[in-house]
Amino acid sequence: MKCTSKVASGIAPSATLAISALAKEMKANGIDVIGFGAGEPDFPTPTNIKVAAIKAIVEDKSHYTPSSGILPLKEAICDYLDKSFSLKYKPSQICVSSGAKHVIYLVLQVLLNPGDEVILPAPYWVTYAEAIKMAGGVPVIIETTEESRFKLSPEQLKAACTEKTKCIIMTNPSNPTGMLYSPDEVRALSKVISEEDLYVIDDEIYAFLTYSGDFLSFASVSEDMKERTIVVNGVSKTWAMTGWRIGFCAANAEISKALSNFTSHSTGNPSNAAQYAAVEAYAGEQLSAIMMRDEFIKRRRYFVDRVNAMDDVSCLEPDGAFYIFMNVKKTFGKTLSGVKIESSADFCKALLEKGLVATVPGNAFGADGYVRWSYATSMENIKEGLDRLEMFLKS
Ligand code: PMP
Ligand code: GLU
Repeated sequence: MKCTSKVASGIAPSATLAISALAKEMKANGIDVIGFGAGEPDFPTPTNIKVAAIKAIVEDKSHYTPSSGILPLKEAICDYLDKSFSLKYKPSQICVSSGAKHVIYLVLQVLLNPGDEVILPAPYWVTYAEAIKMAGGVPVIIETTEESRFKLSPEQLKAACTEKTKCIIMTNPSNPTGMLYSPDEVRALSKVISEEDLYVIDDEIYAFLTYSGDFLSFASVSEDMKERTIVVNGVSKTWAMTGWRIGFCAANAEISKALSNFTSHSTGNPSNAAQYAAVEAYAGEQLSAIMMRDEFIKRRRYFVDRVNAMDDVSCLEPDGAFYIFMNVKKTFGKTLSGVKIESSADFCKALLEKGLVATVPGNAFGADGYVRWSYATSMENIKEGLDRLEMFLKS
């Protein structure tokens, strides 16, 4: 039998999804494991959004739609971008697809030629490196340090650029670290991005979940930056809609047209009823989204204070998103629950098997020495999970 493509053989599975699937499987087998793996809000989708979807189904919104999304949704997204970030786009510049993850995949397919380099500051979200490879590109990973709050400096960016560099992927606030680039930091990086003639894929999926500091989109910096920026966002995190699979990007006319052509031959269109649910998310009342954000703020406070009160582990206070990126370097070389810890993968495996707590090792995000916890889970789970961590560290 002939083998699969070279690209296919080089792609790793998503570690975040794999760990959450493993935790769910252990639970289904009667093991009392607590999952802090995948970052998906534990809240139900707000009722007004569910009702909008039911109405769409009853009204027979059950056929194909335009491949890059229905006009009412594109208009609602344009209004949202304007009201929330003062970003002005026309509906023709919006491409809606089946989740922000798929949008990122498509954007890379549209931008890259084989061998083009994409700069990826580490720690980075697991999917980026694989999506770059799936598009024939080469991820160029630049390490950042905890001392710089895991942020890339303009000097580091400049030094990493070559003739082959096509774009950079930024996530603000970041998954997995929760750090937010300040408006001045965004402007300083933008200067290099313009000078080096790069595109920036600006993943703003956690922009609403910003708790400290001001958020600035790369597209807001100047007209030139707006042309170079592909703003990526979606409904998954802000409105607890991970399963509905609606994400979008806003880009210049040429990129939007190419993306629409790609969607017409790949997904066809995103789910019709889910698009009507998304119209309600963007245009409807925002009370539920605000209540969920307030709850994340409480959980973050509790999490950070408890982790930093323990021996051998520590974390920075995240500015946004719903992740704690915990430093576990002091445990390396020690034996916990009878297991010698030499890496973040060892730590997570032992914490899962002996402590019954599921977390994601930092090496999945290009940063060994750290462990990611998602606090998009109940306060009850967080308290119990951290009690178990404390016992595990003392074991
Ligand atoms: N970007 C980041 C940084 C994420 O954490 C996620 C979470 N899955 C996504 C994009 C994709 O979100 P979705 O596909 O659910 O819209
Ligand atoms: N973005 C979430 C995470 O990082 C969901 C899982 C995934 O899509 O990878 O956990």
